[in-house]
Amino acid sequence: MSDTKMETAAARTLNDNQPVRTYADFNSYSQRGGRLRGIARDAVIQALSIGRNIARTSGWVRFPYYHHVFDDERHGFARQLDYLRKFGEFISLDDVVGLLESGDVIDGRYFCITFDDGFKSCLTNALPILLDQGASAAFFVPTGYIGCDLEMDREKLLGFFDHAPVLMEFLNWEECREMSAAGMTIGSHTVNHARLAEFSEADACRELETSKAIIAENLGQACHHFCTPFGIPGRDYNVERDPGLAMAAGYKSMLTTERGATRRGDSPHRIRRDHTLANWGNHQLRYFLSL
Ligand SMILES: [Zn+2]
Repeated sequence: MSDTKMETAAARTLNDNQPVRTYADFNSYSQRGGRLRGIARDAVIQALSIGRNIARTSGWVRFPYYHHVFDDERHGFARQLDYLRKFGEFISLDDVVGLLESGDVIDGRYFCITFDDGFKSCLTNALPILLDQGASAAFFVPTGYIGCDLEMDREKLLGFFDHAPVLMEFLNWEECREMSAAGMTIGSHTVNHARLAEFSEADACRELETSKAIIAENLGQACHHFCTPFGIPGRDYNVERDPGLAMAAGYKSMLTTERGATRRGDSPHRIRRDHTLANWGNHQLRYFLSL
């Protein structure tokens, strides 16, 4: 981001106590030229998606993963769930782990919807649409940000993203309980949204164990699932070390951001997921979910 644009974004955020609620606003913080690159990339994906078919194969679970359903993305998210339903069934993370642990054949095509970071729009926008579709989803929360106050914790919130001081509103624990009661899974995304690869083993363990305990305490039930922040194997987490640490901490699964399908025999501690934006067209889902 250029200095001028950074200043504009910062000034705008500092002058505005309202958190970001639309993708249009969120996207205005992205780097100069980002939108043009986005349009060019979309044209390429549009072309590449022709002839692709999500239902070409069977025997898999795909994990679309989102961060937000902003106010101007609600229709897109509902449309995407409608679209996915044409190709497979929605499945909960607990059921996926049960399937993988059983070693049984995965009979059919399944989608396990996940959300990272615990933003407020998970409750306000995503939850009603998921319930409407009869779909459950897993939400991974960085416990240190849950319940942060827009005014008192302002500096911390503005530091959440590396690229710009974007004021995001996070869920609080009452809302996490509400989502859990509605049938959603609440999993850990560490305490501090930690890039585990940069952490010593002791510090990584602390992030895994503390967040798990905090979620259990606030939800009144055990936390079984972990999603590693940023999620690229070898860059953001230690492939040799961290799945084992997650297992030792008592997590039944560990989710990453490596793309691809999950099939029989795959480890529940290195689950691949497909990054998805709720405002994408169906051709983008068709392209990425058939890779
Ligand atoms: Zn994250």
